[in-house]
Amino acid sequence: MNPAIPFIDLAAQQKKIRPEIEKAIQTVLEHGSYIMGPEIETLEKRLADFTKAKHVISCADGTVALSLSLMAKQVKANQAVIVPNFTFAATAETVALAGAIPLFVDIDPNTFNISANSLKLGIQKAKELNLDLVGIIAVDLFGQTADYDILIPIAEDNNLWIIADAAQSFGATYKGKYAGNIVDLSTTSFFPAKPLGCYGDGGAIFTNDDKIADTLKSLRLHGKGQDPYEYIHIGLNGRLDTIQAAILLEKLKIFPQECKLRNTIANYYSTGLNPLLKKPIIADSLESVWAQYTLTLPSYIDRRSFIHALKIKGIPTMIYYPIPLDQQIAYAHFPKVDDLSISHTLCNQVLSLPMHPYLEKFTQDFIINSVNSLVDSFHP
Ligand SMILES: *Cc1c(COP(=O)(O)O)cnc(C)c1O
Repeated sequence: MNPAIPFIDLAAQQKKIRPEIEKAIQTVLEHGSYIMGPEIETLEKRLADFTKAKHVISCADGTVALSLSLMAKQVKANQAVIVPNFTFAATAETVALAGAIPLFVDIDPNTFNISANSLKLGIQKAKELNLDLVGIIAVDLFGQTADYDILIPIAEDNNLWIIADAAQSFGATYKGKYAGNIVDLSTTSFFPAKPLGCYGDGGAIFTNDDKIADTLKSLRLHGKGQDPYEYIHIGLNGRLDTIQAAILLEKLKIFPQECKLRNTIANYYSTGLNPLLKKPIIADSLESVWAQYTLTLPSYIDRRSFIHALKIKGIPTMIYYPIPLDQQIAYAHFPKVDDLSISHTLCNQVLSLPMHPYLEKFTQDFIINSVNSLVDSFHP
């Protein structure tokens, strides 16, 4: 029996920096500013240094980051926002919570990100349906950014804004620019399993727009104005905890090294894995942060038995995502561009392998060899 392999090994990371984390938490316990304490501003400054975004607004989580951004864009009831069909629910949830209508479009099967062609069809569809389309939420799925140089002109031609849901791509680059500084408004998540995670919920918003930044800073504090108990917006309680900021400051110190390790592991997987498996495709000018390493199985492989056989060997896998948004009970009534066949097919064929910076070489070899011999046992 092999010892169980964790899908994401947060314990290995903690072991590396436990004394620093404890010291950071202790500092917060001593100064006692649990809400909007000094670590919040320091973290925002470090995140701005990292991404080169002009403004960083930390917040409660990646979902709140999206909600605050939609509020800052003044999204109103019955307006429509284009959302890819293959993403975590929060991308569409926040649109619906704003009273607006998510319009689902399809993705590119090579990158898992929003398809430019489907986006154009979606804009057309919105016109046919007489929808008041105002924007697009592009998602940087599995750690690779969407192709913004293609998306931005389409958005501009149609007078639409873009919000980048960079929950999975903090640390990734697009043509030399860091996620968070590619479009005017981006959001991320510090959920523990994300590339940069805290020990609870956390998130951040990135923008180069001074006015949007001011609005966001007010919105996350119930829409507060200058004076105590003065309100200029209808906001929400969307703050990041000081303790989480203190933890993130320590984790950020080792994050660049972790990004390199993730890339080394992903390259090793891609070189070693059986070519019958479709591996993630990353364009030359991009660097993924590998939030997930997601394979597409050939259609003749029964995914359920494939997963079961790996599980018996002690190799955990995950399906991101098993059900596309347009087929979810909560979202099935929203409009969609067409039959969304690519996202439907991928939901049946994708499989994510263990991925984290501390995956040992022998474990990588064991995973590669186990997957490869399993592939050979299936026949078209
Ligand atoms: C994780 C995630 C979110 C939500 O982030 P939370 O911090 O869990 O609220 C939103 N969008 C995508 C694509 C995500 O992966």
